[in-house]
Amino acid sequence: MTFLKADRLTKAFGSTPALRGASLDVERGEILAVMGPSGSGKSTLLHCLAGIFTPDSGEVWFDGRRVDTMGDRERTALRRTAFGFVFQFGQLVPELTAVDNIALPLLLDGVRRRTAYGKAGEWFARLGLDGLETRRMGELSGGQAQRVAVGRALVTGPSVLFADEPTGALDSLTGENVMDLLVDTVRAVDATVVLVTHDARVAAHADRRVTVRDGEVLAGVKRVEV
Ligand code: ADP
Ligand code: MG
Repeated sequence: MTFLKADRLTKAFGSTPALRGASLDVERGEILAVMGPSGSGKSTLLHCLAGIFTPDSGEVWFDGRRVDTMGDRERTALRRTAFGFVFQFGQLVPELTAVDNIALPLLLDGVRRRTAYGKAGEWFARLGLDGLETRRMGELSGGQAQRVAVGRALVTGPSVLFADEPTGALDSLTGENVMDLLVDTVRAVDATVVLVTHDARVAAHADRRVTVRDGEVLAGVKRVEV
């Protein structure tokens, strides 16, 4: 059984087809890069896999559970407990401090304040952000902010991290550093990663790469089945 699976997904926005039969298998523990030009359907595919968008047709499966037919409540619970998200920018609350931002998903899950802040604080050394706990997000560099975003995505212990152009707003050196951190961290916590990027250097960090073109997933580098 495939850990995370998209099977022949279609999705249109009005008359614009975004996905036209996209299929993808993600294995537990792998870091998969989804590449392709702008507008090819990468983000739509990620949002369908993560239960944020419902496809018009096709199926999404996660760990033996059908996702696309779940009700809102079940899907929200799944996203909160099993999935973490890193986007290009905008997912952090600028008025809050770095440690507040990392603690927030735990607080939303009903974790007690002291426990949540204790757990959030443990991330700073791991993220290379020691001493920046009480900085407001607006006082951090882009690279530091994305490290906070990685901590925030992983603090709840998700089994899948969805990252959509996580280094898209960074210069290439800073982006490389964030990718190194992201990969080291997900390996340490045994998470599976779906990494959307149009940047080959970013995709080079993945275990496997597939390409999306015109709403379809082209065959990636196939592993030999025995
Ligand atoms: P990518 O992430 O590869 O750049 P997207 O999945 O964002 O591609 O978009 C695929 C296609 O769907 C594009 O033609 C895009 O303009 C369209 N699209 C995506 N999101 C929306 C939306 N919310 N409303 C209308 N069209 C959209
Ligand atoms: Mg996109």
